[in-house]
Amino acid sequence: MNSRCRSCGAEIKWIKMTSGKMMPVNVRQIRYNPASQSDEDALVLVTEDGRIEKGHFNPSACRIGYTSHFASCPAAASHRKR
Ligand SMILES: [Zn+2]
Repeated sequence: MNSRCRSCGAEIKWIKMTSGKMMPVNVRQIRYNPASQSDEDALVLVTEDGRIEKGHFNPSACRIGYTSHFASCPAAASHRKR
């Protein structure tokens, strides 16, 4: 179920989090190696099944995640104001 961000028009995908909340993510799939939660250099990724994981980009890794659209949206400031 892809749609578009109402703020910037980018194509996004909604993932249902384990908490039941819907999270908008960028459609590009990121392959990554898992990293520890305390790793500050790691990317924050959303998995297909709605969990947050930290990882390092690796094109040959088998894990796939998505990056939060809120983190990269050029109109993110307006998301916060609303
Ligand atoms: Zn956006």
